[in-house]
Amino acid sequence: MDGYVLTLNGKQVAFQPGQTILEVAADNGITIPTLCHLKGCTPTGACRICLVEVTGARSLMASCSTPAEKGMTVDTESERVHRTRKLTTEFLLASGRHNCITCERSGACTLQDLAYKYGIDKLRFENTPQPFENEDMNPFIIRDYSRCILCGRCVQACQEVQVNRAITFGYRGPHAKIVAGPDVRYDQSECVFCGQCMQACPVGALVEKKAKFTGRAKELEKVRTTCPYCGVGCQLMLHVKEGKITKVTGVEEGSPNKGRLCVKGRFGYDFIYSGDRLKTPLIREKNGEFREASWDEALDLVANKLKEIIRKDGPDAIAGVSCARSINEDSYQMQKLFRAAIGTNNIDHCART
Ligand code: SF4
Ligand code: SF4
Repeated sequence: MDGYVLTLNGKQVAFQPGQTILEVAADNGITIPTLCHLKGCTPTGACRICLVEVTGARSLMASCSTPAEKGMTVDTESERVHRTRKLTTEFLLASGRHNCITCERSGACTLQDLAYKYGIDKLRFENTPQPFENEDMNPFIIRDYSRCILCGRCVQACQEVQVNRAITFGYRGPHAKIVAGPDVRYDQSECVFCGQCMQACPVGALVEKKAKFTGRAKELEKVRTTCPYCGVGCQLMLHVKEGKITKVTGVEEGSPNKGRLCVKGRFGYDFIYSGDRLKTPLIREKNGEFREASWDEALDLVANKLKEIIRKDGPDAIAGVSCARSINEDSYQMQKLFRAAIGTNNIDHCART
């Protein structure tokens, strides 16, 4: 855009009006570390890790919330910037219990990456004690307050991404913590267990209960697939270890959900491993009991019964509802079967909206 130019790390770069320094840097291949920044949400500037040096400004500026301006000179990697980011990382490491040895997020933790990047091999500050009990009185989510850095990403995920408004910041100063409702258990709050807060957490403070001790980042293969539950078709990322799903996340860049998932898509995969799954057709005998049958036998039985109904009462005596878990092609075949072969328009889909 004509005239919208600033100097970024010594290079003149163009930007769009309304962009933040963080966005301009990303557009130009420069990664500024962030903790609290959640794409698409209101910038909070809470974590102070994305600070950059702007010539003429008295203090370092949070790049996530500072708009780019014409003629600005920005340095994202100055000695002062590095020193400050390192100090902030040291403070965060000293708040709580960041022992990576058994942390679920080891290998996929932004705080761990920052400690490595800024070469923090020993803590200069004494660890602050963690005054809050972990919250895990629900089947899905563990909130480990000892690892929480109060970045607020979980709150934004809940309030702005999913718009559930179940959690928020509670209390002040050293007593500050993320609370559900008026500081109640998750299962007693408005939480719908979509798990979006877990997906947003940059550290190991919010983790999947079922996934605990089942595998860490470097052991997991990622497999992208489509959610089997409803017609929305959300894109899932399965995190698989030795052929078994350990957890599910939403694909951030995938449409239509752009990273969002509901409770079923994120947590409802246990059925895959259920011993009760049907593996062969079952035919109900006259005595009401089921017996196993071959596909040929079952299909012949259904076809003959349908023919009998058509002969007796006409095709409109039959109706079909296709399953929301079916793929588009199967639903298409189903309506073809009903309209073309059976001869009725009584065909619907249980999640057609
Ligand atoms: S699980 Fe969903 S509704 Fe519950 S706190 Fe997290 S984001 Fe909010
Ligand atoms: S639980 Fe995670 S996302 Fe939420 S404030 Fe703490 S560190 Fe940030």
